[in-house]
Amino acid sequence: MRFGFNDTCLEHDPGPRHPENPDRLRAIQEHLQDHQGVEYVNPPPATEADVLTVHDDDYVEELRAFIDDGGGNWDPDTVATETTWDAALASAGLSKWVAEEAMAGATGHETAFALGRPPGHHATPDDAMGFCFFNNVAIASQHALDETAAERVAILDWDVHHGNGIQDIFYDRGDVLYISIHEDGLYPGTGHVDEIGDGVGRGATLNVPLPAGSGDPEYDATLQQLVRPALEEFDPDLLLVSAGFDAHRHDPISRMHVSTEGYGLLTQRVRAVTDAIGAELGFVLEGGYGLDTLADGVGVVHEVFEGRSVVTPTDPVQNDVEALFDEIRGAR
Ligand SMILES: [Zn+2]
Repeated sequence: MRFGFNDTCLEHDPGPRHPENPDRLRAIQEHLQDHQGVEYVNPPPATEADVLTVHDDDYVEELRAFIDDGGGNWDPDTVATETTWDAALASAGLSKWVAEEAMAGATGHETAFALGRPPGHHATPDDAMGFCFFNNVAIASQHALDETAAERVAILDWDVHHGNGIQDIFYDRGDVLYISIHEDGLYPGTGHVDEIGDGVGRGATLNVPLPAGSGDPEYDATLQQLVRPALEEFDPDLLLVSAGFDAHRHDPISRMHVSTEGYGLLTQRVRAVTDAIGAELGFVLEGGYGLDTLADGVGVVHEVFEGRSVVTPTDPVQNDVEALFDEIRGAR
């Protein structure tokens, strides 16, 4: 794969005890040293104009003033320092680059993956939260719609948390399909089955709040039974994956049981469906807080694009998940 990387993203440092720290990117880079076919690209940062395509002026101004003033706790989880502004623009720039690369036809070994931080999917039009300041994937999606041939963009968010910010930004839009697979009841508490979009966006939000303890069979069933049909119906020109790795069974902040191999399987499923419907594909890093499991997860996504074949789980899907799928189909 081609990995977008910008050293400026390392400079956002909310402190050594904060789970979203620069060691996350260092662990990924160290791990990728052992892989063939890794290429790094250093795209430019996003501009403030890019940010303003999805965020409110007042919020952006307030955040800039807060950071210029030295930063601090925006909320109990979300900590800015004086370097956060540049890091957040760098992170959004990587995400923009992924959309551009994908729409320019980057596939297979050339597939783009943004290794940025701070992450983005919790950032709403008018607020930073959940370690996120600018909504990287939303900025990239809007950029694709405004500046490339893409007329419809889909986002698949497999981070263990619901991406409330992406959902809010595109909730009443018919040109962006947002799909989230997350742990039911976890932060930030949104992402219920009946949140399906509004107005012309009705049906263009799909939430799959899986029960705690779900693992490879449940995630694979979600991809096959819900995500694939939704993508086939929406027929996007571009699919961006909000790729968090915090549903891993050894991640410290969730109770999900996805294995490293499971992330490979998700990647293979996503690749198969985008090939089938003729959509371009790119990846943007979100969360993932176990350094080893985060690095392994990114590594296995890369390996799938280098030709690794992945084993399908044989364990049965939990009964309550089949009932959840029926509920989701009924809500749409
Ligand atoms: Zn997360």
